[in-house]
Amino acid sequence: MTLSRLVRVASIVVVTMISGVVHSQSVEATDSIDSNPPKTVITGSIGAVKPGDEPLTSIAFEGRLLGDEQSARLMVELDGWADIKPFYMNNPPRLVIDMSKTAFRFQQPENLKPRGLVNDLRYGTMARGHSRIVITLVHPVKIISQQFRQMVKGRYKFTLDFEKVEAAEFGKQIAKQSNEISLANKMVVKGDRLLRAAKQKGRMTIVLDPGHGGIDGGAKGRHGSVEKDITLEVAKVLEKAIAQAGPFDVFLTRRDDHFLSLKERVKIATRKQADLFISIHADTLKQKMVRGAAVYTLSKKASDEFAKQLADSENRADLVAGLAANEVKDEIVNILADLTARETKKFSVQFAQRILHVFRNNIQLIKNPHRNAAFEVLKDPIVPSVLLELGYLSNPEDEKLLLSDKWRDKFSKHLTQAVGLFFANRVQ
Ligand SMILES: [Zn+2]
Repeated sequence: MTLSRLVRVASIVVVTMISGVVHSQSVEATDSIDSNPPKTVITGSIGAVKPGDEPLTSIAFEGRLLGDEQSARLMVELDGWADIKPFYMNNPPRLVIDMSKTAFRFQQPENLKPRGLVNDLRYGTMARGHSRIVITLVHPVKIISQQFRQMVKGRYKFTLDFEKVEAAEFGKQIAKQSNEISLANKMVVKGDRLLRAAKQKGRMTIVLDPGHGGIDGGAKGRHGSVEKDITLEVAKVLEKAIAQAGPFDVFLTRRDDHFLSLKERVKIATRKQADLFISIHADTLKQKMVRGAAVYTLSKKASDEFAKQLADSENRADLVAGLAANEVKDEIVNILADLTARETKKFSVQFAQRILHVFRNNIQLIKNPHRNAAFEVLKDPIVPSVLLELGYLSNPEDEKLLLSDKWRDKFSKHLTQAVGLFFANRVQ
C-alpha cells in the first residue's frame, strides 16, 4: 500500500476503501519525502469522501513545504473536508491548488517558506467560497502524487509531491489539463489578494514615492524651494517613522535626485508586491490662499478605464487572476480585472479615510481633502495607492511648514499612525 511508504516513522495505518476512494485513518505519523514516491495520474478532484455533517469552511492549521532542487512535498492539514484541485500554469511555471472554502490559519507559516524548487508560495481566499494556494516554481515540475485523507476525526491531510521536469514535459501537462479544466464559474476570482507566506507573519510592504526628481523639479515655492527636494526629504523622514512603528518594510521609489517615469514608479510598487503605495507631492495652485494637505485616490472613471486596460493586457490579467490568460475566456478576464480593481480602490479609499481621520485636528487640511483624480501613479490595479499633497508650495505659509523639521516629524508621526490603523485589521 502506497500510503505506508510515505511514512518513515513507525505508524499504524488503517485503510478502508469506500466506493473506490482511499479513506484512511492514521495514528500520528512523521512525514518525509519518499525517494521513490508512488506514480499517480491526476484527474481533477481527489479526496476523502465528503462527510455530510462537516462545516462548510475548513481551517488549514498546519502547512509544511519540504524538498530540494529536485523534488518537493507540500502538506496541509485541515480540520475538515475540502475539495482540492491542483493544476499547472505557465509564465512563470506555477502549481495552483484550488480548494473549497478554506480559512488559512497556519500556526507556523514559516514552515511554508519557499525552498528548493519553490520560489514563492501564497495562499488566500477567492470569490464564491474558494480558496487557493499558488506555488511559483524555480523550474517546471510534474505532480507525481497527491493525496487527501482523514487522519482522525476532525483532522485531514493533503499531500502533494512534485518533481523537476523539462520544460517540454511541463508544456505537455499544461496542454493536457487545458482539455480537462472547466472554466465555468469556479475560476472567478475576487481580488486574488494572495498573501506571501512570509507576509503571513505580519510584515507589510509600503512603497513611498517622492514625487518628481532629476530634470523634473516639480513645483517651485515662492521662496525658492523645489518640490522634488521636499518630497524626497519628507519621504526619508517618513520611511524611518513607519519602519520603526511596526512590522513594516518600507521602500522608496527613489533615494536621490533622479528622474523616474510615472510608470516606473508604479512598477517598483508592483515588483515589491507592495501592500500600500504612497506618492508624495507638494504642488502649486493658482489660488494662492489655498493651503493644507489633501489625499487623492483614483477616480471612478479612471479606475473603470484602467480595469478595461487591465483586461486587455494578458500579462496583467494573468497576474491578477493567478491564471494563464489563454486559459481564460475574455469575459472572465474582464470580471476578474474589474473585481480586483474595485477591491484595490476600496482599500485605497479606506486608507485615505484613515489619513484624514488622523490628520483632522492635527494637520491642516484643504477643503474637501479627499479627492479623486486619474493620476498615473494611482493606477496599479493590485496595490492600494494614494497620492498625498503635503500642502501647496503656492502658499507661503505652507511652504514654510513644509521646510520645517518640526512639521515634518509631526506629519510623519500622524501618517505613520494612519498606516498602522489601515493595517490593523489586515496584519495577522
Ligand atoms: Zn507634484
